[in-house]
Amino acid sequence: MKNQETIGNVHERTRHLIDAGWVEGLAPEERRWLASHLAGCEACAGRAAATEAALRAFRSLSASPPPGLAASTSLRVREKAAELKQQRARNLALTVGCTLSWMAGVASAPLVWKLFGWLGEALRLPRIVWELGFLCWWFVPAAFAGLAILWAQARVEREDSNGLLETGPRSDEQ
Ligand SMILES: [Zn+2]
Repeated sequence: MKNQETIGNVHERTRHLIDAGWVEGLAPEERRWLASHLAGCEACAGRAAATEAALRAFRSLSASPPPGLAASTSLRVREKAAELKQQRARNLALTVGCTLSWMAGVASAPLVWKLFGWLGEALRLPRIVWELGFLCWWFVPAAFAGLAILWAQARVEREDSNGLLETGPRSDEQ
């Protein structure tokens, strides 16, 4: 009983060493022990051969990437993500700033309307002239704010798609 358990443990250790040899490598004495066991045990030798064949087939199917590629790729993805986050924050600040200035324009509009009316009367201008003056004052900043927001959004979208093209696997598109 005790002897059988020991034999079972020997094969168990062999299986562990076969797998470990592929994953993290073996110490010299482990390698020697494994080789001597495989030389005398058909079952474990068959298992080692099957493991090697399966891994070779898998490696020939998936072209092995150059060493260090995974690390540099994940680093680039992280850098890109941080960059985009920063740009989004900048664009958000711009959008908020434009919106606030537009709201300030709306809020002060009645006051400015009165001011233009007063100026129009003082300068004896036709009503249409000071009305147009008021409209210019009111619409130009709002139009600029709107254009700035549209421009910022278009830029974010363009940079997003550039990022996808750079890091994505489908570089054959476009
Ligand atoms: Zn064995």
